[in-house]
Amino acid sequence: MKLEKYSFGIGDRFGQQGLAQLEALIKAKEAGIEIVPVWNKSNREHQIIKSSPADTLLEADSAVLALQWEEPYYVDADHINLKTVDPFLEHANFFTLDVADYIGSEITEQELKDFLKEASAYEGELLIPGIAQPFSISGEELVKIARSFLGAVREAAAIYRHIAHKKGTDNFIAEVSMDEVEAAQTPVELFFILMMIKQFGIPAQTIAPKFTGRFNKGVDYVGDASLFRKEFEEDLLVIDFAVKTFELPDNLKLSVHSGSDKFTIYPIMGELIKKYQKGIHVKTAGTTWLEEMIGLAMAGGEALQMAKDIYRRAYERQDELCGPYSTVIDIDPATLPLPQEVELWDSEKFASTLRNIPGHPNYHSGFRQLIHVAYKVAAELGEAYLAMVRRHSGIVGEHVRTNIYERHILRLL
Ligand SMILES: [Zn+2]
Repeated sequence: MKLEKYSFGIGDRFGQQGLAQLEALIKAKEAGIEIVPVWNKSNREHQIIKSSPADTLLEADSAVLALQWEEPYYVDADHINLKTVDPFLEHANFFTLDVADYIGSEITEQELKDFLKEASAYEGELLIPGIAQPFSISGEELVKIARSFLGAVREAAAIYRHIAHKKGTDNFIAEVSMDEVEAAQTPVELFFILMMIKQFGIPAQTIAPKFTGRFNKGVDYVGDASLFRKEFEEDLLVIDFAVKTFELPDNLKLSVHSGSDKFTIYPIMGELIKKYQKGIHVKTAGTTWLEEMIGLAMAGGEALQMAKDIYRRAYERQDELCGPYSTVIDIDPATLPLPQEVELWDSEKFASTLRNIPGHPNYHSGFRQLIHVAYKVAAELGEAYLAMVRRHSGIVGEHVRTNIYERHILRLL
């Protein structure tokens, strides 16, 4: 199985928007942008929603059948590890091996020796074609890199082999992810991580490093975009060089766990991948759920009321809802509108406060992020929530489509 050049991760918390999401990619195709969809869902999401990996596959299969999508499509067991992968084995063909928790885990002296045997060749000046300044690398630094990442890559190999044993090596795409950490990995570190990936025999087709800056959920990039540009460009060149040097899969590409809505850096990524004719995988977070909320708000009446109720409950349960997402959200509680205030809003006010239109006077990133993590509240409403979304599927679907196509794809490619 070989992943296409451009792939786009679509998260759909409640599994109701498969058609609308695929329609966005069909629109892109009609405009000459070929992207394959990857339905991604993590174990954590399944637990909160009380859905199962089989549901995601069914959603994808149904949408593909209904719209006669003839290109490949994938279902991503997102951020899995050895403890959580098994329920996904039958229902996914893309596995994101999340080894962030294993960064810095212990390695044996023999493992260190094996790594250094190959890595020492790059001690001194490492010149990557396309990067003007050579990187200077000391022996000490190599040891530090090994102690940071070797245990993580070893774990990725263990997960990979477990999946390959069950599914067969040719029947899935493997991604190695280390993005859910505070410290970004430098292009030099990425180079040696790729060497380790080769040494451990993982045919990874996508790699998700942690980039510089903050990738908060559902809102724009926070950080220095010029630093991101430099790092992203160097990462592309490092991957290109590593693929040739270590004979990694020739379609190996960056996977950006965007958290959605990284409007500032989408054009930068788009420009650079085109410059070097590289592919990309972009994961979005569950912003499809936010579009459901916007759609409900715009539908008015009891649907708008439900959206307000969800906000009120989320407001009252901020600590509980935000806790698990502390590294990927930034909300100043003092600026959040009070639920009694929101109660008086009309459809347009609610929708435009939630919708990410940079510069819009109503847009409130704290409000948006709180609702982003509030899908648990909607999950608790169960069938009442799902029935409401289905009742307003026309307007909700329109928002889902427009969001993916216009705000994401067109800004990126
Ligand atoms: Zn991620």
